[in-house]
Amino acid sequence: MSTPDLSLDLGLDLSLGAGAGQREDRPGPAARTGPSPEELLAGLNDPQQAAVRHAGAPLLVVAGAGSGKTRVLTRRIAWLISERKAHPGSILAITFTNKAAAEMKERVEELVGRRARLMWVSTFHSACVRILRKEIDKLGYKSSFSIYDAQDQKRLMTLVIKDLDLDPRKFQPGPVLHWVSNHKNELRDHEDVAADAKNGVEQSYAAAYSLYQRRLHEANALDFDDLIMTTVHLMQAFPEVRETYRRRFRHVLVDEYQDTNHAQYALIHQLCADDPEVSEEQRVEPAELMVVGDADQSIYAFRGANIRNILDFEQDFPDATSILLEQNYRSTQTILTAANAVIGHNQGRKDKRLWSDAGDGARIVGYVADDERDEARFVSDEIDKLTDDGHRAGDVAVFYRTNAQSRVFEEVFIRTGQPYKVVGGVRFYERREVRDALAYLRMLVNADDSVSLRRILNVPKRGIGDRAVACVNELAERERITFWEALRRAEDAPGLATRSLTNIRGFVALVEELQAMVAAGERADVVLSTALDKSGLLAELEASDDPQDETRVENLGELVAVAREFSDDPLAGPSADPADVDADLVAPGLADFLERVALVADSDQIPDDDDGQGVVTLMTLHTAKGLEFPTVFLTGLEDGVFPHSRALGDRTELEEERRLAYVGITRARERLYISRAVVRSSWGAPAHNPASRFLDELPVDLVDWRRTEAAQTSWGRPDLAASSPAYSGTGFQPTAAGRRHFSAAAARADAASKSIRNRSVPSLEPGDRVTHDSFGLGTVVALEGQGDKTIASIDFGSGPVKRLLLRVAPIEKL
Ligand code: ATP
Ligand code: MG
Repeated sequence: MSTPDLSLDLGLDLSLGAGAGQREDRPGPAARTGPSPEELLAGLNDPQQAAVRHAGAPLLVVAGAGSGKTRVLTRRIAWLISERKAHPGSILAITFTNKAAAEMKERVEELVGRRARLMWVSTFHSACVRILRKEIDKLGYKSSFSIYDAQDQKRLMTLVIKDLDLDPRKFQPGPVLHWVSNHKNELRDHEDVAADAKNGVEQSYAAAYSLYQRRLHEANALDFDDLIMTTVHLMQAFPEVRETYRRRFRHVLVDEYQDTNHAQYALIHQLCADDPEVSEEQRVEPAELMVVGDADQSIYAFRGANIRNILDFEQDFPDATSILLEQNYRSTQTILTAANAVIGHNQGRKDKRLWSDAGDGARIVGYVADDERDEARFVSDEIDKLTDDGHRAGDVAVFYRTNAQSRVFEEVFIRTGQPYKVVGGVRFYERREVRDALAYLRMLVNADDSVSLRRILNVPKRGIGDRAVACVNELAERERITFWEALRRAEDAPGLATRSLTNIRGFVALVEELQAMVAAGERADVVLSTALDKSGLLAELEASDDPQDETRVENLGELVAVAREFSDDPLAGPSADPADVDADLVAPGLADFLERVALVADSDQIPDDDDGQGVVTLMTLHTAKGLEFPTVFLTGLEDGVFPHSRALGDRTELEEERRLAYVGITRARERLYISRAVVRSSWGAPAHNPASRFLDELPVDLVDWRRTEAAQTSWGRPDLAASSPAYSGTGFQPTAAGRRHFSAAAARADAASKSIRNRSVPSLEPGDRVTHDSFGLGTVVALEGQGDKTIASIDFGSGPVKRLLLRVAPIEKL
């Protein structure tokens, strides 16, 4: 498990006993089943204790960052089981990530023993998947449905747009999907949306939504947003299903409530709100609900999160009780004062009096870098100093606004030999070979999953080309059967060449053999290894002399290892308790594994500490939510970077960015560093961004500026820093005029630098490692053409290999 520093601290004192075995040795009444009430409440202040002990009415715990909300929620679960004798199976706790869920479960188990395993502690998505696996047949899906991720969705939407003959320049899969997602988060299905379409464009969008949904259904697949929406619709359409879960879940607890969207809110409502329309004898007493959150940390509006859910809790649940936590146990007073000062600039919020008795601690360290490379060097040097002073690298986190900003830190860390881990960069599960392997597994579990099936039909190459696919497709459409069924009847496909037929038969035989293994309940890792082997996928990669394929083989090895670990994990499968509604689900192993993989989130990748020293963690601010680190570097504090350029002219968006800053600052326990770069390359050209307005909002005396704009030298207009009073000294209080002056000068410098930009073509060979300003680290796969016209094919790990004209591509050889 991870160290306390790196993870959510869920607040249980380990001295309470490491496991059930230890407690059984205790004399007297302790031999009952668990800790005493005093132990369960130890290390909690009065309002925290009140929240743990509260019984009855819906409970809202609102409090600023680091005030122990998550700790209270965890303790409350233990309290419910231990003191209130709640059946663990009657508890549903929702966390923001799978990792947080696993840790919470573990902590509760440390306290109350193995029976805690029957609780449902999971993300909204995982909880919905569990419910749907059990109930979705009522909506005409099979319980083996696939879960489509962003890439699958994009493939499918691209096909839909093509099928509808929509102009691909006007209708791109990304924006259409975003639009669909918004509607799903609002629980609006394609029929609602079509009925409301006001003009031609909206009608086309609605048509795309509708066909997309039909194709998903045909593939027996749900996308991410469907998981929640479908569960809510199911409960609305089938009162008996709703009643089953209302009876089952007597306690519902939700962490990070400020980031719930409408669909998630509706789900909670289905489970916990009183239902005046139901007759007295059918009425199920609503579950006890506890939600915890902080409106100032709501940072997912772009995914439909609705800050009103927390602000309106007392209206939504009229008899609700609220508890306020005001003491922060995470950070020094300096860090807290800084956070409070920044968030204080948002309007219409409830002011909170968050305080800490940890003392003032160190001042915040500020640094103005010449450019992003200089900024990364500064961070690296400071980490060196910290580790020289005996601090652990694992205690350090570097935050930035967008994923692409990680690249330069990676380069510098690689050069200095500083071990690090990027959380949520190029994701393992998005790599081509990993997706190929998973597509095999997915179609074994769900043969209707045509996106997966088509993906692997000719991977590795087995002579089933586009023409053959078209013939089979025609058969499928004519006979109204699925693509897989059509493959099995390929001899009926019109115009199919004999060779193709033979090849298809070979493929069908392979799949059926593997399906038989799955049906027999074979372990996920065994099925996977067999599939890799018998399909020839592994052999093809092993035989290749493309250096990138070597990494691919390693990645597949890693995937098998993940599957093995999963199959060995006693907690992974469904529980065997007869009281559990899942008990009659056969444990298919492979389906569980795929589900786990499909629901992996960025922050689930946070490294566990293996050697005691740990590694520096790099992540975006969004991913940092809920976590804490002794040392935090908040980087890229520039207007246009953070706050994001999109937000500059929009007060609502700017306030969301400010909440993100508040989240970032409050992750730090002891030391906070803030930095910005005067020049930062953006799409291959230098951009000069003014200081982030959030810097102006920090009280001047809290920050120890190690280097300021006046001291920096390398950018083209030295006169500016001197002539503008706004940028001299250490105070960083640029006036609006100063800011305008600065931006105009920056734009001029920018244009000049673009025109003189006369790069030579880097000389590359296949196998060379390069970095690209937008795509990050990559490996050169092939080169074509010469001189100015040289085109390099480069694999950036995710997505297809890119072909780039070297003369203009913002690439550097490593
Ligand atoms: P966030 O808003 O960032 O999610 P939170 O309110 O959930 O924060 P926790 O993560 O639960 O806060 O707690 C923050 C830190 O304070 C943790 O290290 C936790 O162990 C510690 N803590 C919480 N309550 C107490 C307490 N009463 N005494 C000592 N330490 C505490
Ligand atoms: Mg928390």
